[in-house]
Amino acid sequence: VTPEATATLGELPFSLDAEELERRSERALAAARASLDRLEAAPEPRTIGNTLEPLNRLLLEVHNVGNHGRFLFVTHPDPRRRDAGRRVGEAADRFFNEFRLREGTYRALRSLTLDGADPATRHAVEKMLRDMRRAGVELGAEQRGELRRLNDEVDRLANVFAENTNTLVRSIEVIDPTELDGLPEDYVRAHPPDAEGRIRLTTQYPDAYPVFGYATRPELRRRLMMEFLNRAYPENLPVLDRILACRFDLARRLGYPNFAEYIIEDKMMGSTGAARAFIERLAGLLGPTAARYRDRLLARKRRDLPTATALEPWDGGGWFGDFYDTRLRDEEYGVDTKLLREYLPYPRVRDGLLALCERLFDLTFHRRGPEELWDPRVEAYDVRWHGAPLGRFYLDLVPRPGKYNHAAQFEVRVGLEGLLLPQAALVCNFLDPSTPSELARMEYHDVITFFHEFGHLLHSLFSGHTRWLYTTQGFIEWDFVEAPSQLFEEWARDPATLRTFARHAETGAPIPEGLLARLKASESFGRANRWLIQLAASAASLAYYDRDPSGLDTTALLVEVMGRYHPMPPPPGTHFQAAWGHLTGYSALYYTYAWSLVISRDLLGRFHEKGTLTDPETARSYVEEILVPGSGRPANEMVRRFLGREFDFRAFEAWALAPPTPVEGPARAPAEGPAAPPP
Ligand SMILES: [Zn+2]
Repeated sequence: VTPEATATLGELPFSLDAEELERRSERALAAARASLDRLEAAPEPRTIGNTLEPLNRLLLEVHNVGNHGRFLFVTHPDPRRRDAGRRVGEAADRFFNEFRLREGTYRALRSLTLDGADPATRHAVEKMLRDMRRAGVELGAEQRGELRRLNDEVDRLANVFAENTNTLVRSIEVIDPTELDGLPEDYVRAHPPDAEGRIRLTTQYPDAYPVFGYATRPELRRRLMMEFLNRAYPENLPVLDRILACRFDLARRLGYPNFAEYIIEDKMMGSTGAARAFIERLAGLLGPTAARYRDRLLARKRRDLPTATALEPWDGGGWFGDFYDTRLRDEEYGVDTKLLREYLPYPRVRDGLLALCERLFDLTFHRRGPEELWDPRVEAYDVRWHGAPLGRFYLDLVPRPGKYNHAAQFEVRVGLEGLLLPQAALVCNFLDPSTPSELARMEYHDVITFFHEFGHLLHSLFSGHTRWLYTTQGFIEWDFVEAPSQLFEEWARDPATLRTFARHAETGAPIPEGLLARLKASESFGRANRWLIQLAASAASLAYYDRDPSGLDTTALLVEVMGRYHPMPPPPGTHFQAAWGHLTGYSALYYTYAWSLVISRDLLGRFHEKGTLTDPETARSYVEEILVPGSGRPANEMVRRFLGREFDFRAFEAWALAPPTPVEGPARAPAEGPAAPPP
C-alpha cells in the first residue's frame, strides 16, 4: 500500500488571531450542519455515493476543525488563542454529540446499500451505527436532549481539568545551593540563584524528575514531590467530581449500571468483570518479584540511614521517583544514568530515531525551514514513504507556560485517502527551557518516552490514508491504542540501535560498549514493581467509574484501591488525581497500558525471533498488518493476521519476571570514555 500522490497537506493556520479562528470554524460547522440536513432529506435509495461519502466528508471536516482547536488549546503560547482553540474544540465536540443522536442520519445509514462494499467500509458503517446506538439515538427526544447536554458538559469539564493541569504549576525555593547535591552539572547550571540567592524548582518535568532521581538530600526530594503530587489541587477536585457524576448519569440513562461498564463494552476487554480479572491476574503474577525489588531498595536505604524501617515515596519504589533505583543501578549494575545522559544529547537521539525509521520502514524525512508555527523551538518534518508523501509532523519538546505538561502525541489533522495528508505532533516536556535544544541532554527514560510517543505518531501517519474517518487510528479500540507505542519503545532499549546514535555530547566519542551491555543487562531491574503500580492505578481508574460517585472522596478511594495492590499508595496530604489527565481522556480504561503491553510483547516476539529488531520483512509486515489499516479491522483481527494466531500472555509473563542479568567484571572500567567519573 503506497499513499497516493493526490492528497495534499492543505492549509493549517497556527497564526490566525482568535476572532478569525473562531469565525472560520463557525462557518465550517454551519456548512457541515447544512450538508447533514441536505443528506437526510435526499431521496432513497441510500448508497455509498449519495450518503456515506458526503457524511464522511463533513464529519472529517468537523473532526479536523476540532483537532485544530484542541491542538491550539494545549500548545499555543498566547492565552487568547488557547482559549479560542478550546471553544472551537468544544463546538466540534458539540457537533459530534448532536450527530450521534440524529435520528434522520441513523435511519439513512441503516438503509444504506452495501452491496459490493469492501470489509473496511462495512466495518466503518457498523462502527458508526454502534456509536450512534450507544449514544442513545434510539431513545426518545427528551432523553436524547438530556444525553446531549451531559456529553457537552463532560467535554467542557474535561477542558477545564486540562487547563488547570497545564497552567497551575507549583514550585519550591531553595536557598542553600548544596541542596542540589547529586544533581547533574548541566541541571545545576540551568538553575542559577536569582538576585536574592533563591533557586526556584518547579513541578514541570525537566525540573522535577532529575530531583526525584538524583538529589541526595531527601528533604529536597520530599518537598518537591509533595508539590508535584498536588498539581492542580484543589481546583480540579470539584471538576473531577462533576465529571464522574455526569458520566454516571449518562450511563444510567443509557441502561448501564455505571460508566465503566458502558465505556468498556465496545473495547477489546468487553466488560468490567474481565478488566478486574485481568488486573488481578497480572498483579498476582508481579507481586512477589516487585516485593523483592522494594526490599533491595530498603536495604540500600539502610546503608544511608540505618534506622530506616520503610521506603518513603520520594525514595523510589512508589508511583513516582526512583532515587534508590538510580543508586542501585549505578552501584550494582554499573549503569550510571548521569553518565548515560552525556551520551544522549537531544539532536543525536532525534536524528538516530529518524535514521532508524528510514532503515526500518523506508521513510524519508525532510526538515522544513523556518516558518511561522506556534513557537520558534518547534520542529516540522515532511515524511515520505517509498518516496511518496506520507504526511507531516511537529516536535514540540520544551515546556512553556500554559502548554500541555505531560507527554503525548496529538492528531493535528486526520488524513484521508485522495484528500488530505495526515499531520501529527509530539507535545512533550523533555528539554530544559533554559538550554538550547542542540545542547540539551536527555534522561534515558525520556528517550524511551520519545520512542513511545513516536510509535503513536507512526501509527497516525501510516493509518492516515484510509477511506473513512471511522477507520482512522483515533477510532480504534481504545485498549489497543498503546500497543504500537509500547512496541516501538523496544528500539530505545536495543543496543544495536543505541550504538548508532549515542555519542558523547562534547567529545563525540561513541557510547562505551560496557555501558551499553550493562544497560541491557539491568533493563528488567524494577520492572515488575513499575507494572504493579500501573495495575494499582488501573484498579483506581476503574474504581472511580464502576460505582455511583455521589459523596465519593476521590482521595480516599485512590489511596484505598491503590493500597490494595501496592504497599506505597500516594502519601497523605497529596491529591494526584487532581492532575491525572487520564481520568478524563481514558476514564476507566487506564488498564489499557497493561493490556496493550501484553499484546505488544507478543507482537515483538516476531521481531525477536529473527535475532534482530531491524529485519525488513518483519517491519514491513508490521506496518501493513498493524499500522496501515488504522481501525479498518477489529484490533483482534489485526493482531491475529500479524501473529498468525491469537495473542497470549506467554511473552509478557517471561518478560515481566525476567531477572536482571548478573554483571561480570568491574562495574565501571576507568578506560571507558572521557566522561567516566573518578573511581
Ligand atoms: Zn502512549
